[in-house]
Amino acid sequence: MSDKSFDRINRRLTLLYLSGNTSFTIVTIILSILIGGVTFTGSLIAWAKLSETIPGKPYLFSGQRVVNSILLLAIITLGVMFTNDPANTTYLYALIGLSFLFGVMAVIPIGGADMPVVISLLNSYSGLAACAAGFAINNNILIVAGSLVGATGIILTNIMCKAMNRSLGNVLFSGFGAVSTTLEKIEGEINPILAEDAYYILEAASKVVVVPGYGMAVAQAQHVVKELQELLEENGCEVSYAIHPVAGRMPGHMNVLLAEADVPYDQLIEMDDINPRMELMDVAIVIGANDVVNPASREMESSPIYGMPIINVDYARTVFVLKRSMASGFAGVDNPLFFGENTRMLFGDAKESIGKMIREFE
Ligand code: NDP
Repeated sequence: MSDKSFDRINRRLTLLYLSGNTSFTIVTIILSILIGGVTFTGSLIAWAKLSETIPGKPYLFSGQRVVNSILLLAIITLGVMFTNDPANTTYLYALIGLSFLFGVMAVIPIGGADMPVVISLLNSYSGLAACAAGFAINNNILIVAGSLVGATGIILTNIMCKAMNRSLGNVLFSGFGAVSTTLEKIEGEINPILAEDAYYILEAASKVVVVPGYGMAVAQAQHVVKELQELLEENGCEVSYAIHPVAGRMPGHMNVLLAEADVPYDQLIEMDDINPRMELMDVAIVIGANDVVNPASREMESSPIYGMPIINVDYARTVFVLKRSMASGFAGVDNPLFFGENTRMLFGDAKESIGKMIREFE
């Protein structure tokens, strides 16, 4: 922002101060600067972690909480000083700078695997910043729209935390994934399968559940998945989609992709509803999902993801896992599902693998 813009803000603040309506207005200005600044740099860090521009691991150092508390205290002190002397732009600059820094400090200790929750929370913050700005400039539309965004973001954040069986405090402060835990050794052999052979099993199946994950988004496989669904249905098979609330990298990621491919909404079944039916499934096709189907969260107490709810694909009669390698998912945790007796690994890009199965059907 240029010096002129700051002078304008400065003049406006002085006017507000002189008009007697000050303290409340200036507090809302400070709040919108603080929340907006945190949202801005926090979102940049979340983006960098998701795009792997910076490593997704949590950055932790000793005394981090003390540094953050001092930072917050400095912001509050500056806020008070600015309220007492709104004509002094130095406080304003410092407030903006520290808010940006606080956004960085708040998000770097959070592991990449928790980013969907963080994005949802930052989305909510952006609404609250708009709401505070609405109070500052006395704009009712901004107040209403901002509070709606803020409230819906908080509700979504809460739903996602519940889906991962974690509290918001645990997501924000636990540094999930920072400590490398020694896992129990996973025993068993992997059983690879070719798309041509997978076709024979699918052809005989009467109930199939598709479990999409981040890899489906990477492969942009949603349209071929829909084609496969239609072929299976023509063959008399019942097809459903199991949606884990945090599958992918953003809230509602899988729902959006499948809607784009015109998959009927009533075929998308939430984790809690599909899990009791999993034993009835002839085939579970896991398409680029990993952490959200990892039975370690149910069985391995030593696993960092122990206790987090998953889609129990391993209870289906046969499981096809479509992925390119044995690499772990975003949480960086090994997956015993791949070694299961009823699991067949279909290696390759998900879109290509599904394309091959479709060609067999045709
Ligand atoms: P993951 O990130 O766990 O796994 C995605 C998988 O997709 C990878 O293993 C990758 O394997 C595969 N993949 C990538 N590109 C392709 C491609 N072109 N074709 C086929 N496969 C591909 O994704 P999920 O959606 O399962 O879960 C991610 C989210 O889960 C995280 O954001 C985190 O929030 C959450 N999480 C949830 C837990 C729980 O609730 N139980 C536990 C921990 C995290 P490869 O490279 O071999 O292809």
